[in-house]
Amino acid sequence: MITLKNVSKFYYSKGVIASGFSKVNLTLNIGEFVAITGESGSGKSTLLNVISGLDSYEEGEMYIDGKETSHYTEVDFLKYRRKYISNIFQNFNLVNSYTVKENVELVLLLNGESGRDMNLKVSALIRQVGLTRYKNTKVSKLSGGQKQRVAIARALARETPIIIADEPTGNLDSRSAKGIIELLSKISHDKLVVIVTHNYDQVEPYVTRKIRMHDGKILEDKVIRESNSINYVDKYVVRDISFINKLRLGIRNAFNIVPKFLLVLLVYLFITVSVTTEYAFFKKQEYETSNFGSNNFFSNITDNRLIINKKDKSEFSDEDYASIMDISHVESISQNDLLVDSEVYVTDNENFYYNSRAKSIKDFKGKIDLGKMPQADNEIIIMCQKDDWYLSGYGDKLIGMKVYLDTDYTTTQINLYKIVGVSYVNNELDGGYVYGSDKMMNDLQFSINAGHSDIEILFNGNYHVSNDYDMDYRIIPTNKVNKGEVYVTEDWNNECNKNNCVNEKMNIKITNLYYNKQIELKVTKLYNSKNMNSLLGEKDFNAFNGAIYISSDDYALLFNSGNYQSSVYVDDVKYVDSVSDILNEDGINVLRAKDILENSEVVAILKIIRTVVTIVLLVSLFFISYFVIRIILKSRNIYYGTIRILGATKKCCKELLNIELLTVSNIAYFAFLILLYLHSNNVIKIGFLNTLIKYLGFGDYLILYIIITLMSYLISVRFARKIFKDSAISTIREGE
Ligand code: ADP
Ligand code: MG
Repeated sequence: MITLKNVSKFYYSKGVIASGFSKVNLTLNIGEFVAITGESGSGKSTLLNVISGLDSYEEGEMYIDGKETSHYTEVDFLKYRRKYISNIFQNFNLVNSYTVKENVELVLLLNGESGRDMNLKVSALIRQVGLTRYKNTKVSKLSGGQKQRVAIARALARETPIIIADEPTGNLDSRSAKGIIELLSKISHDKLVVIVTHNYDQVEPYVTRKIRMHDGKILEDKVIRESNSINYVDKYVVRDISFINKLRLGIRNAFNIVPKFLLVLLVYLFITVSVTTEYAFFKKQEYETSNFGSNNFFSNITDNRLIINKKDKSEFSDEDYASIMDISHVESISQNDLLVDSEVYVTDNENFYYNSRAKSIKDFKGKIDLGKMPQADNEIIIMCQKDDWYLSGYGDKLIGMKVYLDTDYTTTQINLYKIVGVSYVNNELDGGYVYGSDKMMNDLQFSINAGHSDIEILFNGNYHVSNDYDMDYRIIPTNKVNKGEVYVTEDWNNECNKNNCVNEKMNIKITNLYYNKQIELKVTKLYNSKNMNSLLGEKDFNAFNGAIYISSDDYALLFNSGNYQSSVYVDDVKYVDSVSDILNEDGINVLRAKDILENSEVVAILKIIRTVVTIVLLVSLFFISYFVIRIILKSRNIYYGTIRILGATKKCCKELLNIELLTVSNIAYFAFLILLYLHSNNVIKIGFLNTLIKYLGFGDYLILYIIITLMSYLISVRFARKIFKDSAISTIREGE
């Protein structure tokens, strides 16, 4: 079966050549039970390692089943070992954290076997070595003799023709040793069994041949009794481990040693929490910098506000609003969008002055603390903090106060309103509102529309240049003027034909972002300092000279042009994108106020800095985690050394390690997700998780999963490189 011709093995260490053994000639056959003896250092182990293919040889030729092996590479020797050799060691090299069954099963799983057949085989082998009672006992709990029986069962599990045992009884008491030798003797019936022993007397009754070594040479090679001479039949099929078996072993290894599992889990939880926190922080900063900068158009840049207009440039109808409200996560709509961004000053034009924003009383959700709810169109309420600096001196006196509502665009104060109620709020942000009728909202919008619009006045088709220098035309609605008519100041007479504007046609053209409008009116009266009061009810001629007085109906025609631009509020920032998409599909342009902030350079630089910092943190985290994992997994060296001796390839070991670590990292990640879920459903409350949940969406969790899995993978790859730096044998020795 095995033939050695003048085989020598040298060790080179620190420039000195030592001989393991030299010029050994030997032929070993199936059916033999060979005992090798000799004093310590005589080369017995070296010889067995060479025969086992665990070590290379430098000189001579070694044949296995007639094949010459001197040209074999490491991979060839691995195949050789898997097909021909099973080893039994003095120190057992079992997986201590596995049960007896799992230890025997291990080699079969590595050989791609599974299912009922495998289980039956395992049971039979355990019975054969007399350990059925201990089948599910962890190996660490067994005695030395029992352990060596497990090792024998494991050696038999792979049906290799050769079993090589280096001092299998060296650590056993004589009674156990006898049992082991008997077992090996039985096995040698149809296998080649080679053992090294210091106690030849003990094996003498069983062995068929004795080889004595001294100083690297064979001194004696003697047949003790006739061996069972049979021919070797090449029937043992070596297979590769299947994917399912890899998963099975990898996952088993993840949980096998509970303290190790918990420690690794802790590290991965640490990684998960750190990476997620860092990532969420990155997102948070990104979000915050996106709010930097200024915006000339919208003062309200709340991030859940979407400013919308229709792509066909038409105005929004009630149906439009209804269908927008039907979109999920749309919380509310401000139809009069211009009012959202406009400050409204509540003032009596004397001492009282309150800065607010206007809202329709229909949207009022608070409770009235003073006075009552508005009933008439000119009645309003104020929502404010009780201790508001501007209002604190007024208290009850607010009720009944007559006020104007000014906007930045108001050219003329037209309507007088009455404060009828006050609602107090606790939070500063909730205050600062004036609530009134829809008519109030419309009137405010008119005046803002008017302020936003370019106004052209044409007398009989000629562009009229206002003598009011830079001031926009002030068009004032009044019920003193009939529809279709207009009153202008007498001062304009010199601009009209025959120095008299009466009966002149006046065209008023309005141009703004949303629409163009034009109406034609006829000048029916001229006002001057004397008749102004009787004509228009206006006493202060100097303040209003130049204003164009038209009917309220015509004014509404010009400036009540419905809503071309509105704002939609989304209930959660998370859904802003999805709502935008739906609106877009429905023919609506969407703009986020914060998207038109002017900040690009600052943001770009901050983003670079953030990215670098994040990467540095991730890399440091990786190395910290790697070193901790390395310490925790130090004992895994023995495991991987063991399975390599049992015939696992490096690739297989790497994959098992990978599965082992990925199992734990997945558990850590999903445990963390469950934690987040419980937190967001108020089952538990953990403060710092708020930030994470706020800034992370589904896509982010996916990215995080990939990052964490990748980190786990890289840790595994790095650790594997360390494990495989040395040969299997020395890895095991190092671990001991
Ligand atoms: P035995 O098993 O009979 O006690 P070994 O086969 O272990 O003897 O050792 C034979 C010789 O080879 C000894 O002189 C020993 O010092 C040497 N040797 C064994 N292993 C190594 C090694 N890894 N490096 C250098 N020398 C070694
Ligand atoms: Mg030895």
